[in-house]
Amino acid sequence: MISKRIQKAMEGNSAIRAMFVEGKAMAEQYGAENVYDFSLGNPATPAPAAVNDAIRELLDKADEAGAAGSLALHGYMENSGYEAVRAKIAENLNQRFGTSFDAHNLIMTVGAAGGLNIIFKTILDPGDEVIVFAPFFGEYRQYVANFDANLIVVQPDPETFQPDLTDLAAKITPRTRALIVNTPNNPTGVIYRPETMRRIAEILEEKQREYGTDLYLVSDEPYRELVYDGNQEDFLTKYYANTIVGYSFSKSLSLPGERIGYVAVPDEAADVEDLIRGIEISNRTLGFVNAPSLIQKAVARCLDEKTDVAFYDENRRMLYEGLTKLGFSCIRPEGAFYLWVKSPVEDEKTFVAEGKKLRILMVPGSSFGCPGYVRLAYCVSHETVKNSLPAFAKLAGVYGL
Ligand code: PLP
Repeated sequence: MISKRIQKAMEGNSAIRAMFVEGKAMAEQYGAENVYDFSLGNPATPAPAAVNDAIRELLDKADEAGAAGSLALHGYMENSGYEAVRAKIAENLNQRFGTSFDAHNLIMTVGAAGGLNIIFKTILDPGDEVIVFAPFFGEYRQYVANFDANLIVVQPDPETFQPDLTDLAAKITPRTRALIVNTPNNPTGVIYRPETMRRIAEILEEKQREYGTDLYLVSDEPYRELVYDGNQEDFLTKYYANTIVGYSFSKSLSLPGERIGYVAVPDEAADVEDLIRGIEISNRTLGFVNAPSLIQKAVARCLDEKTDVAFYDENRRMLYEGLTKLGFSCIRPEGAFYLWVKSPVEDEKTFVAEGKKLRILMVPGSSFGCPGYVRLAYCVSHETVKNSLPAFAKLAGVYGL
């Protein structure tokens, strides 16, 4: 007999993951070139050559040093990760964003997912509330439920998909512990404007004063470097002191299977030392113990590298222009690698099913708390985007667009 909690999780199991499996089966049946799989954010661009070079060098160096080398590379270390790695990341962030971190502000994590879970374990008690802006990365539901807290959803402006801040102010209660912000956003590709971030900070500060609570802004930043059209990479600690950053190298260095990221807690955050210590302990007690060792050391050597943003930009252009011309209504992405498309019919699941008949795989908006839309992950090859357009033309025809 399995637990009631996991039974519940199984009922709402990820539509994206299910589609990933279906996509693979379809590729085997019809040939990969005949399936237009836009379901999963699994980057098609290779990791920068420097990453594999760093891994090879680290392995060679360890071999040369014998048993001591092996222990230094593959052994346990502090639960927060190697100090030298954290110091290098701190220095890199300080240079790029004018922060003043040192190694002790950082905890290396098992991707953004591991990072968010150790943050929530540290700050949430049962019955607490975490606010998120719709549409949102669906896994947040599980991460918050893991600690018996409740996810409270704030609606977007339906024109721009920027958050509705009046709704935010109305939904903060004395039980609110955190607001999750994810910009550039999965699934819309929208970037929250600096004035939006400043207004969010004002609202959080006002509510902290009103309720006498600490409200943490949890900035989930796997897409930080994926920005287009001259948009600047942003770092949210500058807007609001109680910001906890969760970062991942999954997308910026195309390493999602390696499970590597970090949490950064600025000295200005309330109860900073307790927070850092709590996050470190949570990393251990949730069973991660520490982030994977070899890849920690490898990414520390590649902090100035990034994935081929121009590659995604080309896909963005082809897909946005292609679909818009066909009569679909899309939000123009400013960052990340997702296109958010309005379903031509109210029930987007029937639209997704029609797409599947043409071997186009899209994820229904209800997976992101926002029915009536679908998400296309365009982190695929140029050929997939190009070859999908005739299939989208047929799909447009089905709806008389
Ligand atoms: N947060 C968002 C918004 C994401 O899109 C993803 C992955 O797609 C994650 C977190 C999880 O990232 P990771 O693979 O680093 O755990």
